[in-house]
Order: sequence, then structure tokens, then C-alpha cells
Amino acid sequence: MIDDAPRATNGRAPDVFTPGGWSPMRQYAERDLVDFVIIGAGAGGAALGCRLAENGFSVVILEAGPFWRPLDDFVSDELAQQNLYWTDARIIAGADPIALGGNNSGRGVGGSTVHYSMIALRFRPQWFKSRSLLGYGFDWPISYEELAPYYEEAEEALKVAGPVNYPWGPPRRRYPYRPHEVNAAGLVLARGAEKLGIKWAATPLTTVSAPRGRSPPCVYRGFCNYGCSTNAKQSALTVWIPRALRAGAEVRDLAMAGRIEIDAKGLAAGVNYRREAAWRFQRARDVVVAGYAIETPRLLLNSACPLFPDGLANRSGLVGTHLTTHAGPGAWATFDEEIRWYKGPPNMAVTEHWNYADEGKDFVGAYAFMSQGPLPMAWAQTVATSRGLWGRSLRDEMRKYNHMAGFVPVGETEPRPENRVSLADETDRFGLRIPKVSFSYSENDKRLQRHAVRFMSDMLAAAGGYDIWTNYKDTSHLLGTCRMGGDPETSVVNADGRSWDIPNLWICDGSLFPTCGGVNPSLTIQALACRMADRISTLAASGQI
Ligand SMILES: Cc1cc2nc3c(=O)[nH]c(=O)nc-3n(C[C@H](O)[C@H](O)[C@H](O)COP(=O)(O)OP(=O)(O)OC[C@H]3O[C@@H](n4cnc5c(N)ncnc54)[C@H](O)[C@@H]3O)c2cc1C
Ligand code: SF4
Repeated sequence: MIDDAPRATNGRAPDVFTPGGWSPMRQYAERDLVDFVIIGAGAGGAALGCRLAENGFSVVILEAGPFWRPLDDFVSDELAQQNLYWTDARIIAGADPIALGGNNSGRGVGGSTVHYSMIALRFRPQWFKSRSLLGYGFDWPISYEELAPYYEEAEEALKVAGPVNYPWGPPRRRYPYRPHEVNAAGLVLARGAEKLGIKWAATPLTTVSAPRGRSPPCVYRGFCNYGCSTNAKQSALTVWIPRALRAGAEVRDLAMAGRIEIDAKGLAAGVNYRREAAWRFQRARDVVVAGYAIETPRLLLNSACPLFPDGLANRSGLVGTHLTTHAGPGAWATFDEEIRWYKGPPNMAVTEHWNYADEGKDFVGAYAFMSQGPLPMAWAQTVATSRGLWGRSLRDEMRKYNHMAGFVPVGETEPRPENRVSLADETDRFGLRIPKVSFSYSENDKRLQRHAVRFMSDMLAAAGGYDIWTNYKDTSHLLGTCRMGGDPETSVVNADGRSWDIPNLWICDGSLFPTCGGVNPSLTIQALACRMADRISTLAASGQI
């Protein structure tokens, strides 16, 4: 297993496709004034770092976690792979505190995409103008049409495997790879949807359905949330990072950024980071924060200085606020036939019906839902915590494991100022104040969840399921704590992710989302990163950077 010694050193970085292998890596000295230091090598940071390096900029990516070698480091073992998650101390608060850990952010090169479920969906076009067109939330400062070419670029880069005719959204090009055959758990969703007269589809996934270079096709063993040990998964680690290295970017693993330094002119001068038991400083012309919707505002707040006493990019007071998550209440049922829902990626069938239907709702917002495939430990945990089963009753319930199926939505929550990331007084092992994450559902959020649970339960019954039960506590995908917008008074950054207050400070991750929609966010994060790279090149060409 990985120890505390960084791997990306001495002019080389792990070659993720070869056991014990190496790829050449350009290295910069700390005294070098690089064009961009990017903090975080996840969905946003890796995609942006790759595209900026390919556009000719000098780039150093600082990543707090290890540089994984999937073929060496990942094993098909739920317990052993808990090391993929960001599990540092965080305080949770509010009426509906969000369980943190494996449920949200990862730590390591590739970020949360190393253990994500690979669902690659686009936002509904109207969500970019949800206040003007749908009457809730906030408008984004960009339109679907502006992002569409970048969605296509991200789908192509990730070789998304999806159906020829995806039933929702505007006309689009075919997915690069054919869809995966839907497993029995997905066919339950299909059967229920057809009985209720709504559309369903094979979920577009970023795991290849045919060979791609050194990625073999998916072998349907279902350990996707614990690190794919075959490299069928197309993650930031296996897609953007190798490209970034080839284009001349440097990735510094086990490098925890603690503070962005501001010079006398009020510009970002570089980043203080901890690596190999010492604090170091990397100079940079521009700094990008891409640490996930908790660590990004935390770093901006922890970097407060005399010129910016309330934290960086925070003149609006909005850094950390308007945190959203996706509500994920579950509906579960027993079936007479064997389902064996652990086979294959966890979410092989989807319906976006309630993302696109506006009639018949007693709430504003949207949700998609997917078939599920929890592995035994995760399932036992769900059963034990949501139903209070233990000992013999838990064992009896677990005997039904191969006959279970269920659905979980990606349920939109309203962006509200009181849901926020702030700094606690406690500090971590680096001496940095830890984040406090407060969250409460609105009445509308609760109505949305009740609607989803009713509808999913009806669909399970229509598909032949019985002994249906539900649970309400789950969430996924934290977003929206440094939102983009068209006005410095009401947003943290502009449409390019550029801070209104500090023009050489940028944000590129899920923190940017003004609203969270009813789909998983990483495709949108990567599309935004690709767009940002092109905007930066355009601005640089006209001397605006
Ligand atoms: C179990 C699970 C399943 C998921 N499934 C899906 C899915 O199917 N589809 C989908 O679209 N999304 C899914 N997601 C969500 C998705 O993975 C994330 O929303 C997305 O990766 C977030 O991108 P990001 O760039 O904001 O942050 P991340 O990808 O989390 O990257 C942030 C990186 O920054 C690093 N970092 C943070 N702070 C610092 C610091 N101070 N110094 C240095 N480095 C730092 C972290 O270590 C991390 O590597 C899932 C998430 C989970 C947990
Ligand atoms: S099911 Fe496919 S993507 Fe998931 S871990 Fe196995 S090979 Fe990788």
C-alpha cells in the first residue's frame, strides 16, 4: 500500500496503466513563476490542468492525496478501499447534518472520480436559467448552448458508453461507446417504468464497453465505488492526468495546500503547501482552487489576510454559502427471482422523467433516479442504520440480498444561504481550521423527497416487488459554495470561474454551481473546466490575464 512518500518526484509520475510503471513528468522549481498552480486533482482540477497544459501554459497541480496506481493499489474489498475517501475531521451541523466521508469527497489524484459511480448526465438546458424559466434557485451566468460543445468534449474524452437515442434533452451526437447491457437490477427499473408509462434508458457511464487503449472493457464486478482495479473506469486519474503529464504539467501528490498568499497589490502570489513534512511555497501567476465544495471555501476562508480579512474572493460574503446536495432517499423491495444487484456498475438504468416533467409536482426542482447495486457491507450498513436491525434480524434481512432491488434519486435541493461551509475553531494535523458543514432541508426539499419515494415505491410494486420499505437519510454530491454569477454582489466568481475581487484567482470545481439540478454533477464540472481553459486562452491572447 501507499505510504507517506510522494510518488510523483524525480521527473517521473506513476503510469496508471502499468503495474509499478512510470511516466516521464516535467518538474518545476518552487522559485519558477509558473503560469498556473491548481489546487486539487479531481474532476475540475485535473480536466482544467490538462487543457491548460495542452493550451501551452505551465501548470503545477497540488493534490493532498496519493497518486494511485489502480492496478497495484486497488483491491476488490469494501473495507480495504476506505482509504480513497477524504476522512479528515469535519464538523457537521444543521437540522439535517450531512454524513461525510465516502459519501462525498475523495482524496488522491483523480479526486472523487476514483470512487464515483461513473454516471455521466448533462444538465437540462432550462436549469441554466432556473430562476427566469422555472421560478426557483438562481440563473447561471452561462447557457446550455455555451456549454454544449464542452459537454460533447468531456463525453468524448471520457468515452461515455450510452444509448444511441438517449430519450431526454436536446438532440445530441451519439455517445462515443455503445451502452452497457443492463443488469437485472436495471431491468427492474425498466419493467416498472414501462408499467407506469414513463421512459427509461441504459445509464450513460464512463466505463468502457469495448477496449480503449490500455483500458480493458468493464468486467461487471461492481467495485466501482472502491476504485476500479482494471482501469475500465474512465476517471480523472486515467483520462485527464495522463494527458496532462504528456502536455508538460507537473502533478505533486501528497501536497496539502494550506494557504494562498496575497501580495501587496492584492493579487495571488502563490500557494503554501505541506509536502514531505515541510511547508513549501510555489510561486504562480495565477492560482486555481479545485478542492471540492467543502475544501475550496475552507481554503479561501483560511487564507484570510489583512487585505481580505473575511477570506479570499469573499467581498460578497458568499464564500461557503448556498451549499446544495442531492437528496437520496431510497425505496427498496424484495423480488421472487434472483436479482444479484452487485453485478456490474451500481446504477445501470435511469429515468430522468421528473427532470423534464414540470406538471404533477407539488414542489419546485427535479430528480432523476437510478437502479442500485450496493455491495454487501454498504447494504448491511444501510439496513442496520435505517431500520435499526442488528444481530439475528440483520442476518435474516441480509439473506434476502440477492433478491433485493431498489431505486435512489439524485434529488435537487434549494440553494439557501444558511446551508454553508464555515470554519470551526478546531484545527487539523496541519494546524488549519477545520470546516463546519451546516445543512437543513427546506420544506420544498422534503416535498420533493416524499414525491420521489412515493413514485419509486409505486414503480417497484409495478415491477413485482413486495415488502417495500424506504429510508430518508442519504445524500450525495456537495455543490455550490462559491457560486458563479453575473454580478459581484451576488456571486463569488464570474462565468469564467474568475474571482471578482482577485483577478488572478480562479475556482474550478463543483463549488461553482448556482443550482444543482437533478443529475450527478461531474460531467458538468468537467465541461465547465474545458470551457474555462478555452476562455483563459482567449483572455490571455488579448492581454486580459
Ligand atoms: C460514492 C460516490 C459516487 C459518485 N458518483 C457519481 C456519478 O456517478 N456521477 C457523477 O457525476 N458524480 C458522482 N459523484 C460525485 C463526483 O465524484 C464529484 O461531484 C466530483 O468528483 C467533484 O469534483 P470536484 O472537482 O469538485 O472535486 P473532487 O473530484 O473531489 O476533487 C477535489 C480534489 O482536491 C483535493 N484537495 C482538496 N483540498 C485540497 C488542498 N487543500 N490541497 C491539495 N489538494 C486538495 C482532494 O484531495 C481531491 O482529490 C459521486 C461521488 C461519490 C462520493
Ligand atoms: S464494474 Fe467495471 S467499472 Fe466497475 S470496478 Fe468493475 S470493471 Fe471497473
